[in-house]
Amino acid sequence: MSAARREMRQDPTTRTWILIGQGPEEPEGKEAPGACPFCPGREGETPPTIAAVTGPDGAWRVRCFPDRAPVFRIEGAVERAGEGLYDRMRNVGAHEVIVECREHARRLPQFSDAELTDVLRLIQARIADLHRDPRFRYVLLFRNQGPLASSLIDHAHCHLVATCVIPRRLEQELRWAKQHFDYKERCLGCDMLHQELRDGRRLVEVSPTFVAFCPFAPRFPYETWVFPRRHQHAFPRVSPEGAAGLPGLAALLRRTLARLEHLVTDYHLVLHDAPNEQAERPAGEWSTLREDFHWHLEILPRTPRLARLQREEEFSENPVPPEDAAAALRDVLVA
Ligand SMILES: [Zn+2]
Ligand SMILES: [Zn+2]
Ligand SMILES: [Zn+2]
Repeated sequence: MSAARREMRQDPTTRTWILIGQGPEEPEGKEAPGACPFCPGREGETPPTIAAVTGPDGAWRVRCFPDRAPVFRIEGAVERAGEGLYDRMRNVGAHEVIVECREHARRLPQFSDAELTDVLRLIQARIADLHRDPRFRYVLLFRNQGPLASSLIDHAHCHLVATCVIPRRLEQELRWAKQHFDYKERCLGCDMLHQELRDGRRLVEVSPTFVAFCPFAPRFPYETWVFPRRHQHAFPRVSPEGAAGLPGLAALLRRTLARLEHLVTDYHLVLHDAPNEQAERPAGEWSTLREDFHWHLEILPRTPRLARLQREEEFSENPVPPEDAAAALRDVLVA
C-alpha cells in the first residue's frame, strides 16, 4: 500500500480508528549536533511559517509550521465509506509543529512565565484557527519530552494534530463526564477538584486559579494533571490575560514541570480539550458538553520498563502510589 493509499479504518470491536498504510519518510532522525532544523537560521529546512510570536527586533520567538512528515493530509474531503459492516475514511487532518524558543537547549522549566505564556497563546490561536475547519472534530496538542517519550529533536517543541475522529481516550472521558452529569447534574472535573482540594494528599501545586495534582488512579509514576479551578469546558475559552487566563496557567505549569523534572526526565504532556463544536457532527451529540466537560492537561511520565500487559491490553500497573508521588513532588524546591 503506497503513501497515497493510506487510510483510516475502524476496528468495530473497540470502535478505534487505526491509520493503515505506510506514511511519508521520517526526516526526524536524530539530528547531528549543530544541525538542528528548529534552530534560528535553518527555517528553510522546515515548511514555511504558519504563525509566529515575534520580538521587538522582528525575529520569531515562537514559531509554527506544518510537520515535515505529517501523519495526516490537509487536502480533500473525508470520504467516509462502508465496506459491509466495516468503516473507512481518508486520513484527512492537519499536523503542525510549534518551536517554543530560539535557544536550542532550553527546557520549559527554564522559560520565564511571560515566555511560556507566549507559547500558550500561539497554541491557543492555532487551535482556534483549526476549529474553523468543519472537517476537524478534534485538535490534539501533545508534547514529547525525552527519547523515552519518542522525541527525536531536543529543541523545545510541541505538536498539534487536527483529526476527523475523536481520540479514543478522549471519547471515553467525554462519555463518562456526560454520564456523571446526567446522573448528578454536576461536572465530574469540578467534583474531583473539590475533593482533591479538601483531601490535600495528592496536591502538587495550587494557585487561586489553577491546580496540579496526582490523580487517584494514575497509569504512570508521578502522573500529574492540571485543571483550571473554575469550570471551563474548552481551552480556546481561556482568557489570554490575567491570573485565571494563560499567564496564570503558564506560572503554575512551569512550577509543576520544574518539580517533575527533578524526578523524571521523559514524559508526554497532552491537552484534553473539548471537541471542535464547529465541526459537522450528528445532531444531539455532546448536548451538555459545556456543562459536563472540564478541559485539563495531563503529564504522563515514561519509564523504560512498561509491563507487557500494559502494552498489549492497556491494563495499567503503577508501583508509585499517587499520595507518595505528590509528597515527593511537593518536597522539590522550585523558584
Ligand atoms: Zn535547535
Ligand atoms: Zn467543571
Ligand atoms: Zn484527561
